[in-house]
Amino acid sequence: MPRTQIQERSRNRARLLEALHFQGPLTRSQLSKRCGIRQTSVGSIAQELLNAGLVREASESGRIRAPLALDPERRFVVALELTPTEVRGARVHLDGALQHAVSRPLKESGLKAAVAAAAAVARRVTGREPDAVLATVLAVTGMVDEPRGVVVRSARLWQWQDVALGDALKTVLGHRVRIVNDTFAQLWDGAWFGREFAHTTGMLYLGIGEGLSCALLVHGRPVTGLGSAAGEIGHVRAGDESRLCRCGRQDCLETYASAPAILAEMTKTLPAAKKWTSLAQAADAAERLPPVMAVIDRVAARLARQLAPVLAALAPEKVLVGCTDPRFGARLADRIQHHIGSELLGVPSAAAIFSATGPLAAATLRGAGARSLAEFFRNGVLD
Ligand SMILES: [Zn+2]
Repeated sequence: MPRTQIQERSRNRARLLEALHFQGPLTRSQLSKRCGIRQTSVGSIAQELLNAGLVREASESGRIRAPLALDPERRFVVALELTPTEVRGARVHLDGALQHAVSRPLKESGLKAAVAAAAAVARRVTGREPDAVLATVLAVTGMVDEPRGVVVRSARLWQWQDVALGDALKTVLGHRVRIVNDTFAQLWDGAWFGREFAHTTGMLYLGIGEGLSCALLVHGRPVTGLGSAAGEIGHVRAGDESRLCRCGRQDCLETYASAPAILAEMTKTLPAAKKWTSLAQAADAAERLPPVMAVIDRVAARLARQLAPVLAALAPEKVLVGCTDPRFGARLADRIQHHIGSELLGVPSAAAIFSATGPLAAATLRGAGARSLAEFFRNGVLD
């Protein structure tokens, strides 16, 4: 096949897979109309995808004109997450299901132990089905240069600087491993498996966990910024109470609006109640205890003030709030939306719709898988 024809077929295949992901199941003639691809081409690409285990006939009848859907069972991405204490991993299937979850504690710190643990988890997640693996991906906290597979800087991961993690893993596993930032992974979970991509191309994701960070999509593309530093809003000044940040400075936004900061605030405000240890606990109590709601509201007001200039500058269609507890995230998202109205003085207050996504741990793995799937759909080679 001439080169241009191969490129066109690969583009058409990508369009078909994306249409099936965001709008499927679809019949061959619906695919032809929606993707603007001739029906004979649709037929031949569909056969290729059926053979590759990426697509299946959606109805059991075996009719030749049965609608097609992505196959959620046969193929998967191996997604991993590296934290300072452990490596977690799971298979991410084409419908976003997480299976074969495995974790392994890190007994030593540093690159060598991390790579050995990540490789071991990857092998266990793969199991006896190496041929079913579409890609392998590892999410880390910190600034990541994705094309080079380099961790540019990560304070939590042993103060890493310019660590070629992708290459180190490739040497051990014998195949490419994509390295992604964990906050970006969480954004991809919402964009891809939350189907936000189907109707939005501009999105801001706010992740509230041990720290605070954000990730941005503009015109459907991730914004990485100078030195992969885009999204590090956790370390802008956000108060004057001399709160010490783990970065060594004072009064970073993280010291007011990360999960530990919010829980410390709860404990301080409601000392008689108990020590607050999880945001799920706070979400439960918010209904009954007005002071809990007041803490959530203060955090939301501070976040709204910090987010307002970003929203005014970029006008994303959607803001997703990710949080260790989704119900807490939903309450917070609702209150931020409320306060944004009074911050965006000259801008339409409906500039962005706020909503919350699922628990962070699952979102990181699933989103890392989503990032790889999106890339595989675009450039994947089928054999
Ligand atoms: Zn800081």
